[in-house]
Amino acid sequence: MEKITPTDIRYTDLAEKRFNKRFIGKPDYIYLPTTTAEVAAAVQEAVTHQKRVVVRSGGYCLEGFVADPAVEVLIDMSLMRNVEYDAGKAAFVAEAGATLGEINRKLFLNWGAVLPSGEHPNIGVGGHVLGGAFGFLCREYGLAADYLYALELVAVDASGKAHAVIATREENDPHRELWWAHTGCGGGNYGIVTRYWFRAPGVDGSDPYTTMPKAPASITTFRIGWDWKDINEAAFHRLAKNFGAWSLEHSRPDSPFIQLFSLLFLNHRNIGKLEMKGLTTAGENAIQQIDAHLAAVAEPLGLPYTRQIEQTPWLRFALNPFPELFQPGFDNATAKVKDAFLRKPFSDSQISTAYKYLSMDKPVFGGLGMATYGGKVNTIAPGATASAQRDSILDIACNTGWGDPSGEAPSLEWVRHFYRELFAATGGVPVPNEQTAGSMINHPDTDLADPAWNKSGVPWSTLYYNDNYPRLQQVKRKWDLLNIFHHALSIQAAE
Ligand SMILES: Cc1cc2nc3c(=O)[nH]c(=O)nc-3n(C[C@H](O)[C@H](O)[C@H](O)COP(=O)(O)OP(=O)(O)OC[C@H]3O[C@@H](n4cnc5c(N)ncnc54)[C@H](O)[C@@H]3O)c2cc1C
Repeated sequence: MEKITPTDIRYTDLAEKRFNKRFIGKPDYIYLPTTTAEVAAAVQEAVTHQKRVVVRSGGYCLEGFVADPAVEVLIDMSLMRNVEYDAGKAAFVAEAGATLGEINRKLFLNWGAVLPSGEHPNIGVGGHVLGGAFGFLCREYGLAADYLYALELVAVDASGKAHAVIATREENDPHRELWWAHTGCGGGNYGIVTRYWFRAPGVDGSDPYTTMPKAPASITTFRIGWDWKDINEAAFHRLAKNFGAWSLEHSRPDSPFIQLFSLLFLNHRNIGKLEMKGLTTAGENAIQQIDAHLAAVAEPLGLPYTRQIEQTPWLRFALNPFPELFQPGFDNATAKVKDAFLRKPFSDSQISTAYKYLSMDKPVFGGLGMATYGGKVNTIAPGATASAQRDSILDIACNTGWGDPSGEAPSLEWVRHFYRELFAATGGVPVPNEQTAGSMINHPDTDLADPAWNKSGVPWSTLYYNDNYPRLQQVKRKWDLLNIFHHALSIQAAE
């Protein structure tokens, strides 16, 4: 396998492949393996020469876990992106470098099937599935990790030897704990996943057409927008409250609205508008569902709003969902995202905090995004997979992005203070309690491990994994005792 060093014409392109340009790495060399054996050889070489090694699949990491100046060897999975049906395991197998778009394209065109997963088609399955992975269809179908049947991992044993292992969810599999850990541990913890197999829980038999859920026949999207100029504090409160109340009422798995997924974008005033976007798979009932949703959330404001409803075939949507979210410039993002799970809607005082930060006169771009959660996700027990949050109604995020480097300091200060004040009653972070349930590891935020921003006394690991952390630590002890795979928020081996 060829070493790609800084003098190679491919180096810059590969070194710069990442969503969040806030972080910059400069590995000594990059490998592009094409087989699991090559991944193992690359890891072995790094371990033997005591070089810090990391893996990258899609490059959509929000923190600097891959683009880290301390990283010396980068293993990029881009050339391992095959997706097919594996009759031996009666499951679909995807190599870790495949993107979500490519997986859904293959599943749909060959079998009319779908892997419920995250929102952007260029996210890599490699770093995505093992973080639980929610998306547009999660209320109806659950998390991507809920469909994980098996994975192949290149790990390093206690003697420093790299080796490949396959772990499945079969009860009698001696490596079942390793499978369990990969249903929510997040990327870069135990080794390098080279392949994932997917099969819906409870399905046996070897018919690829029934292995995964059927894709929706169509998607009906909605986009609603209010001019910020029309919004006063009372209207802002009403909107946030209505959305919270609707999410609480319809997060139950038996809600007639689990096919509807909705996003409220409480943008900063500088962006000019507040928005709602969402979709339903309800086909001929779609318009009726959207109307009912808007009647509960948007209409009571009594303010004019723009409204756009479109029906799209599934694959067209999956490969280019809400294009305006992913505009040119998106590939050059510098961003910070601070995530939280909610079990109950925001209180009045939290909504007042949001209004204060979103209407304040500051040179920032960003906002508070709120995504409906629950439904099928909440039918799974917290310990059945490593994705512990199974009774949340919303996943929210304070986020900001900037173009010019001079925007970094004010944007970071604004978003950090905003989030800290939202959760001021619990030390600045969403501790697991009646209202909040921690944070999502697929949206990592190193501030949660920083005592300046987390004064709750609850460690970052509890925020991400709740009660599942000790078990994840046992798995770390067994499979990566030397801590070869680590980053700022990685799992620490049990003592
Ligand atoms: C625009 C955008 C939209 C997003 N939308 C969603 C969403 O809807 N739902 C959701 O759940 N998440 C979402 N995310 C978060 C995303 O799922 C995570 O950032 C995920 O880790 C990205 O995986 P990747 O392979 O693309 O990233 P990478 O940057 O390649 O990797 C991310 C982390 O995983 C590790 N990793 C990568 N490949 C492997 C592997 N093969 N084996 C082991 N570890 C690996 C890396 O070392 C790193 O620590 C979004 C992120 C962005 C930037």
